[in-house]
Amino acid sequence: MEYVSTRGSAPVLDFEGVTLAGLASDGGLYLPREWPSFTEHQIREMRGLAYWEVAVEVMTPFVGDSLTRSELIDICQQVYCGEFSHAAVTPLVQMDETHWLLELFHGPTLAFKDVALQLLGRLFETFLERRGQNLTIVGATSGDTGSAAINAVAGRERSEIFMLHPAGRVSEVQRRQMTTVRAPNVHNLAIEGNFDDAQRHVKRMFGDGEVNSVLNLGAVNSINWARLMAQVVYYFYAALQLGAPDRKVAFSVPTGNFGDVFAGYVAARMGLPVERLIVATNVNDILHRALANGDYSAGDLVPTATPSMDIQVSSNFERLLFDVGGREGAAMAAQMRGFDKDRAMRLTNAQREGAAALFVSQRADGEQMARAMQWACENAGQVIDPHTAIGLSAARDALAADLIDPATPIVTLATAHAAKFPDAVERAIGVRPALPQRVGDLFGREEKFASISGDYEAARSFVLDHASANAG
Ligand SMILES: *Cc1c(COP(=O)(O)O)cnc(C)c1O
Repeated sequence: MEYVSTRGSAPVLDFEGVTLAGLASDGGLYLPREWPSFTEHQIREMRGLAYWEVAVEVMTPFVGDSLTRSELIDICQQVYCGEFSHAAVTPLVQMDETHWLLELFHGPTLAFKDVALQLLGRLFETFLERRGQNLTIVGATSGDTGSAAINAVAGRERSEIFMLHPAGRVSEVQRRQMTTVRAPNVHNLAIEGNFDDAQRHVKRMFGDGEVNSVLNLGAVNSINWARLMAQVVYYFYAALQLGAPDRKVAFSVPTGNFGDVFAGYVAARMGLPVERLIVATNVNDILHRALANGDYSAGDLVPTATPSMDIQVSSNFERLLFDVGGREGAAMAAQMRGFDKDRAMRLTNAQREGAAALFVSQRADGEQMARAMQWACENAGQVIDPHTAIGLSAARDALAADLIDPATPIVTLATAHAAKFPDAVERAIGVRPALPQRVGDLFGREEKFASISGDYEAARSFVLDHASANAG
């Protein structure tokens, strides 16, 4: 399988290449040159398969020659038969006649990001071993990505990780999930400033010639194609249980960087009968405005009880715009240059119509979020996290607005365990969710992190001074 950049001028790479590269060298994002697809018959044949088996089937065309079948099987078994606390990996829970929850939080750090990052950690090791290289992962996190990435990389031979988080701006559970991991290849940096400051340092490091001359840098955020590929699997797995390919299913996805919901789009392109993808946003609603009226413009960031959805710009949206807009790299590059300059752009007609064929969007504020948590608790006995509640609110609103056929099951992606955000849950329903046993005594363990001032030089010298890996 060949991968091309959304901006048209980066080299074409294979799966191994895109996994290790993360971002394309022209600033774009990698996508498969064409979408592989399954026939109805092939999809029907996947019914009854275990999660890891569906994973092998769905990933095979994307992986191409970069892994042998037995290597892929081995990795999928290690991840999906070992790292998740539920035998079904991503179990479905019914809430009423129409609404279902797809629980994606049974991994080690209690958010859906484990599903892909546990796989990515093993892909890195396999490819680095083969190349005889080491990788220095540098990332910024507003919470969930950091802990999931650290957990996926801790103790591995050939990768080492530096994770920047904005000091005092991640929840205590999120921070402890990062800072209590005591492997020597894990480095936590608490940066003065906000998430955007941390993110800016990371981007700058990727463009820093001196850093790159001594370190082989790798990325773990959702611009990495391998993460999206891993997320396509649970759309298939859930839809198969609800009657695919003979019945359509709709999905409601709490959305931030547009990675998770884009994986649903990929599933649809591969032949899965998806009736609608509901893009659920909080009040930071750039995606809702873009899908509703073509206005993609960054606003002021409003901090909410759903920090993983507090974004101004959704990186992966570029992948959709490229794909539905005719796959013209030069035009895409020009459109994004305009956006970088003005922090705003209009979608083209082709982009709007292409997106509208599958996507609808709904926005939910804090009150609507709380009401969805109450509804889930009272009607289905489910204690859900704030992000999931935005998704459920959007699902119910989309149904009420006649955007979804009432006979179609609607699956809301439950992206985090409620215990990750106990304060917001307690405020809404009066119940304080307990941490599951498997995370152990998170509050009894010693923390280790470096406090760094807000300037780039401080972060950069910390990484250079503490990196043990080198480009070798
Ligand atoms: C990351 C995250 C999201 C947003 O996912 P995207 O792929 O960025 O759209 C939603 N909910 C939770 C709990 C998350 O951690």
